[in-house]
Amino acid sequence: MAFNWSLKNLPKQIFINNEYVDPNNSNKLTVYNPKDGSLIANDIALAGEADVDAAVAAAEKAFPAWRKVAPTERRNIMNKFADLVDQHSVQIAELTRACLGAPYKAFGAFEVGMCAEVFRYNAGWIDKFGGESWPQEDGFLKIVRNEPLGVTAGIVPWNGPVASVGLKAAPALATGNCFILKPSEKTPLSSLALGTLIKEAGFPPGVFQILSGDGSTGALLASHMRIRKVSFTGSIPTGKKIQEMAAKSNLKRVTLELGGKSPAVVFDDCNLENAVTWTANAITANTGQVCFAASRVYVQEGIYDQFIQKYKEAMQAKAKEVGDPNEDGVSIGPLIDEGQFKRVQGFIERGQQGQGKLLVGGQRIGDKGYYLEPTVFTDVDVNSEIHCQEIFGPVSVVRSFKTEEEIIKLSNDTNFGLMAGVFTQDINKALRVASDFDSGMVGVNCVSLMFQNTPFGGSKESGLGRECGIHALRAFTEPKTIMVNLTY
Ligand code: NAD
Repeated sequence: MAFNWSLKNLPKQIFINNEYVDPNNSNKLTVYNPKDGSLIANDIALAGEADVDAAVAAAEKAFPAWRKVAPTERRNIMNKFADLVDQHSVQIAELTRACLGAPYKAFGAFEVGMCAEVFRYNAGWIDKFGGESWPQEDGFLKIVRNEPLGVTAGIVPWNGPVASVGLKAAPALATGNCFILKPSEKTPLSSLALGTLIKEAGFPPGVFQILSGDGSTGALLASHMRIRKVSFTGSIPTGKKIQEMAAKSNLKRVTLELGGKSPAVVFDDCNLENAVTWTANAITANTGQVCFAASRVYVQEGIYDQFIQKYKEAMQAKAKEVGDPNEDGVSIGPLIDEGQFKRVQGFIERGQQGQGKLLVGGQRIGDKGYYLEPTVFTDVDVNSEIHCQEIFGPVSVVRSFKTEEEIIKLSNDTNFGLMAGVFTQDINKALRVASDFDSGMVGVNCVSLMFQNTPFGGSKESGLGRECGIHALRAFTEPKTIMVNLTY
């Protein structure tokens, strides 16, 4: 089974037990190309109950042997998979780009490469993720083992479909779990194509499976009685439903990576060029469809006018980079689909009706496809929807502030808590503010970035648990304490 997937040969079947098979369910997924709204396919598998049950049964069968595979062998399989993903990066990214509209150089290469790197990173942990042992002087030796959970699942969104596979599947598989991937209904193709590489890398049948589908498939996984963990990335409303389904079924473990409305706080004493560069990049990368985008920018009054001028120029320059994602020189593609486009346009239209002043952007680019100018509102009302809600497009809001105390309060006055940024050259202030932010991640003189060796995730309604680093391995294992009586 050689990898020959392309736009002319789309993967449309689910991947169970190392084979591509037709689903039992007759409903299908339809995907469109956001660069012009054209139909890509309307016959992509939508896994139903019998398909989910078949994947769970195959995973349960594979689990006892997989959890006991020697660490070096498991590491080699994962590293081989990473190499294969890199080898086919262009084709995999093309399958994402057709559905998401993200240019290869600016996004596709990065996110496919990230998937491969996350597999390598977790493969490296396999023989280093030790347990614990505790003093035996009280007569009992205590050994703590990190046990895999069994059959686990990952439900992922459309905005980083391949990187998300790495973030969830790699720690699950590294720790000896079997893993079922449910890609977004909007971007199923690149995930489905991975089946060929899963088999070629040497994962045994049933260990790593792919069920394309929509929310109904996700709900079957989240409420399944024999799935022991769901790692979910997506919106807050869906995350809440998943936690409820997990609780009502078998109390399966849940990791939730959800939305954000992340603040960037720019103080008078910052390096202005640096602050403008990071904040402009943060809200336009992947057309603003990034959970940790800095979408609220707060600027201290002493440099407010200067910042606004430069931020406006940066956004106008970004507007020139918007275009057909297949063309060279384009770094910002369309929004993913008509629904998302209309949603973002709605925020922009309502925003102009008294919520704030439109500084730049706001217009559609071209008359086909879902292209939008990078957009900034100033003087926003703190209670307005454009200030409070996640827009998930290239739209930011800016306000000025006077004091550190005032801006910490405003930054934290939200139910989100994913990312925050502080721009200042005063290290004491930077560390003070970083500690006062109520968020899972903070950038100092940077914002909207992540590293695979440090915890990734949010506080408050932005999430539950963490991905990346050792935290991801812990989230896919359960400590087991073995007590050995040394006194008899
Ligand atoms: P979404 O919640 O609509 O869908 C995400 C996934 O959940 C999809 O695979 C979908 O099929 C599935 N799903 C939908 N309804 C379901 C249900 N009832 N039960 C189980 N599964 C269900 O989110 P989206 O629109 O795909 O993604 C955008 C959102 O994701 C934004 O809010 C963004 O901030 C968030 N996001 C968060 C992170 C993070 O790491 N914190 C990363 C990327 C995106």
